[in-house]
Amino acid sequence: MELWYTEQHTDSVRFSIKVDKALYSGQSEFQRIDVFSSLEFGVFFTLDGLMMVTEKDEFIYHDMIVHVPMATNPKIKNVLVIGAGDGGTVRELTRYKAIEHIDMVEIDKMVVDVCREYLPQTACKLDDPRVQLYFEDGLKFIRSKENAYDLIVVDSTDPFGPGEGLFTREFYGNCYKALKEDGILVNQHESPYYKEYAKSMQRAHKRIREFFPVCRVYQAHIPTYPSGHWLFGFASKTYDPLTDIDEQAWNDLGLKTGYYNTEIHKGCFALPNYVKELLISADE
Ligand code: SAM
Repeated sequence: MELWYTEQHTDSVRFSIKVDKALYSGQSEFQRIDVFSSLEFGVFFTLDGLMMVTEKDEFIYHDMIVHVPMATNPKIKNVLVIGAGDGGTVRELTRYKAIEHIDMVEIDKMVVDVCREYLPQTACKLDDPRVQLYFEDGLKFIRSKENAYDLIVVDSTDPFGPGEGLFTREFYGNCYKALKEDGILVNQHESPYYKEYAKSMQRAHKRIREFFPVCRVYQAHIPTYPSGHWLFGFASKTYDPLTDIDEQAWNDLGLKTGYYNTEIHKGCFALPNYVKELLISADE
């Protein structure tokens, strides 16, 4: 008998991975959590039937969500991570000696517990002494924060269910307030390719633009996400990732990465015309 994980990317497109073993299945207060093992992608986990992380391609997502802001401002000391229960974002952040403190706010403790057990590849640095874990809603957590962080990383699920609030105007406004005067906000920004994802991407861009003077979008190829073409948002009060990147300083750190390098950094902000048009029309 063959076992396949199938995710519906649109009403008429599906993506499947042959499953070797179903390792875990559970229902938290917020969502259904499943963990599988597969020959092609190794262990992977899904929330409410949507792909979150696979052992084989998680390095692309985590490199891009962390190293792009860190190479733009290597002096970042205080970081807030929202979502990110698998731990991959924190793993990459803890590689920087300059970072003094990381608050990570994940709504669902069960995601962290399951990832600690089945995905040590990503969860391995959650016990770093600089990391403080909070199990609460990021939307509420950030309301009381002011001038507190150099970097906010929003590593969330899609804009429905528990992740919905992390794509709202209220949330982005509070991120602006929670950041110091040279603060940077990076978020997973959905995909431009399929219509429903593109709408979420446009809405997020429009809302972030209302608050931040520097507002850019960059891309990466992530094979297991819908269409494989994924975007990240870079918003900031002062830093521009294209003109402020200190290539020498980042390369001198000697960090070994599987995807990110300083050429990718410059190239990933060059967007295809159809994406540029979607971003321009998001403002109309
Ligand atoms: N890399 C992934 C992706 O783009 O598919 C996202 C990874 S991470 C597992 C997303 C996490 O965000 C989930 O564990 C989820 O529980 C958490 N999350 C969703 N809504 C949240 C909220 N309002 N506050 C804090 N965490 C939230």
